[in-house]
Amino acid sequence: MSNVAEIFKSMDYGPAPEGAGPAKEWLAKHDAKFGVFIDGHWAKPKDGRWFPTSNPATGEPLAELLDADEGLVDQAVAAAGRAQPGWAALGGHGRARYLYAIARAIQRHSRLFATLETLDNGKPIRETRDIDIPLVARHFYHHVGWAQLCDTELSDFAPVGVVGQVIPWNFPLLMMAWKVAPALAAGNTIVIKPAEFTSLTALLFAEVCEQAGLPKGVLNVLTGEGKTGAAIVGHADVDKVAFTGSTEVGRIIRKQTAGQAKHLTLELGGKSPFIIFNDADLDSAVEGVVNAIWFNQGQVCCAGSRLLVQEDIAEVVIQKLRARMETLRIGNPLDKCIDMGTLVDPVQHQAVSTLVQQGVDEGATLWQPSWACPTEGCFYPPSLFTDVQPASTIAQEEIFGPVLVSMTFRTPDEAVALANNTKYGLAASVWSESVNLVLDLAPRIKAGVVWVNCTNQFDAACGFGGYRESGFGREGGIEGMTAYLEPAFIADLPQYEVDEAPPPRAGAATEQGGGLPTIDRTPKMYIGGKQSRPDGGYSRPVLSPSGTVVGEVAEGNRKDIRNAVEAAAKASGWGSTAAHTRAQILYFTAENLAARGSEFADRLVAMTGCSRAEAQREVDASVERLFTYGAWADKYDGSVHSPPSRQVAIAMNEAVGVIAVACPDESPLLSFISLVAPAIAMGNRIVVIPSERWPLSATDLYQVFDTSDVPGGVVNIVTGERDALAKVLAEHDQVEAFWYVGPKAGSEMVERLSAGNMKRTWVNNGKKRDWMDKTHGEGREYLRHAVQVKNVWVPYGE
Ligand code: NDP
Repeated sequence: MSNVAEIFKSMDYGPAPEGAGPAKEWLAKHDAKFGVFIDGHWAKPKDGRWFPTSNPATGEPLAELLDADEGLVDQAVAAAGRAQPGWAALGGHGRARYLYAIARAIQRHSRLFATLETLDNGKPIRETRDIDIPLVARHFYHHVGWAQLCDTELSDFAPVGVVGQVIPWNFPLLMMAWKVAPALAAGNTIVIKPAEFTSLTALLFAEVCEQAGLPKGVLNVLTGEGKTGAAIVGHADVDKVAFTGSTEVGRIIRKQTAGQAKHLTLELGGKSPFIIFNDADLDSAVEGVVNAIWFNQGQVCCAGSRLLVQEDIAEVVIQKLRARMETLRIGNPLDKCIDMGTLVDPVQHQAVSTLVQQGVDEGATLWQPSWACPTEGCFYPPSLFTDVQPASTIAQEEIFGPVLVSMTFRTPDEAVALANNTKYGLAASVWSESVNLVLDLAPRIKAGVVWVNCTNQFDAACGFGGYRESGFGREGGIEGMTAYLEPAFIADLPQYEVDEAPPPRAGAATEQGGGLPTIDRTPKMYIGGKQSRPDGGYSRPVLSPSGTVVGEVAEGNRKDIRNAVEAAAKASGWGSTAAHTRAQILYFTAENLAARGSEFADRLVAMTGCSRAEAQREVDASVERLFTYGAWADKYDGSVHSPPSRQVAIAMNEAVGVIAVACPDESPLLSFISLVAPAIAMGNRIVVIPSERWPLSATDLYQVFDTSDVPGGVVNIVTGERDALAKVLAEHDQVEAFWYVGPKAGSEMVERLSAGNMKRTWVNNGKKRDWMDKTHGEGREYLRHAVQVKNVWVPYGE
């Protein structure tokens, strides 16, 4: 007879499969053939094309899905358009009641959702049951609250209208919840396309909404392939696009929507670092790695797929990790005792295998556990690469599978440099027992989420989203809500008239006084805190409305822009300058501008032909606006969220980095200040193109900035032809965001060209603000664009 210790060692897991019966019955009830959900009805056109969806663990066909064509996209968008005013008019409480009904229904049907998701996707039932579906319900409950508070807390906003949403296959229902809940709470209506591999839970969700009595047309669900997604994204009557998926498709969408005045949020790929310091609790960290890269078979946008270990503990960590990998269980996803299920599709299996082979070919060492991985179905074993070069393909590309690449570092600085050595910036996980160390590192890592001594934590109250090529926008929390709203005044703004600014005419008489010419003052560029001559050696005249030349400014070119961006990039210390100091500098700038107020007013009169009183008002408003952002500099703080787990999530408002700003012609001093001041108040460095027609108010500010202690490189000014210079800035990979105010064509150009490095854009789509009006010209709207929110999750307790 064996003793307890022997039993403990020899004991094996028995099979514990979840019954697929109810999910199969649900499929059978629909004859395993689904239409699409439009305007509260299930459309099954006779001439439709259907495609199969199958269980990736077995290859067994599950159902046939309709490939929605453009005609159906039109119908769905039209239905959403008709339903939107009524849905918004229901008011916050009315919408909250529907969201509450949906949240309750998800809980009632949670096991059916979990089983169906596992059948369709291949992820373990343990995850769908304990993570995906509870988070879906949590997301709806959280947004019941936002709907309820909309009318009071967000009363200055309006819904954006009809929202087109395209989601991936890795968390099918969860991604749907992340998109649907805030959109509905805010008063929008929806056309959503799930991924072709995993549409079933979206269809069950539509049925649940139908049963909950959601008004017709508020939610429309279209199955289909990529081209269905493209038709939704490009539809003229879609007002906002929200996408989660690959950076490649995100880039296509950025270009496709350019100039369509569509709001856009993109949640894209990642190659997130998982950093272990030598003072970390190594056993916990190893368990963290399991969660980071083998959760959902590594098919997670924020997977901790790059392991960075401090050199002196690398060997022991790798040993522990290999030992742990030997105990991972892979198998039937419906079995409650397995750790890993299957990849989503043979296509994905092939993609992962190809990248792993590339890693081996490039010289890295591959290690996989000794147990046999199932050969039927899309199973892929947990895999670990060592001897990885930081620049190699497997260290840079998103593998999107259960493959971990490991590298070492010596110092915290080296860890930060390695962590940031990627085009992505979605998440990071940092393991150390030193609170000082992790809180020093968190702000230095370019990522939207940093998990301290934990990983893959999500909550509806905490915004989630990326930096850099991981996309822009946040899902969850107040940031997620504002992504589905726009300031109410914007809908009523007038459009710029075409050709509003006639090109300057050269050759008119210059101002003269007392028979002698005035002492020539030709402003140069303002780059890195110095006045520098234009590279091209050309100047352009600045004309008054009557055609008099009131001055000349430098004609900036591509080289000047590059120099300015370089200077801005170098001035990175501004972001970590104390907010108090930034506030003081803004107040001091206001003080120095006020001291020279009458000179600035004279300039405005001479350039624009406005009255003296109007000019003085513009100067006074500019001084006041500088005060406003001096005030905000140390007040637009982040917040601390309390997710349901024993953690706090510190939501920090971080500077975006280098922002390009193109200013309009009207109110040339005030519009310049209105755009520059919020950006620098929040710690950004900027390259700004002042009014093309009347740039002298901006060039007169060089001395004001100099005497106000604005550090060199924080504000860089390049004068010249706005759209030619804007093009260079939009294409520049070191520019992280672009604010463009000008005619409509410029907005299109900036959005399209920004797709290169996926910079965040804020454009006016040809709409004209009244800069004297504080609602249009200042406040939180500007500050929101001047920051990106980073959530730092910190656990507490032993
Ligand atoms: P995609 O980005 O292609 O797909 C995401 C969604 O977009 C799907 O619904 C897809 O439809 C749809 N889609 C595809 N093309 C377009 C288009 N031109 N316009 C609008 N919608 C479109 O991801 P894949 O599923 O092809 O996966 C490829 C790779 O992307 C993965 O290996 C992984 O690296 C990455 N990925 C990253 C995710 C993330 O969360 N960061 C999520 C999923 C994938 P359909 O399903 O019919 O193709």
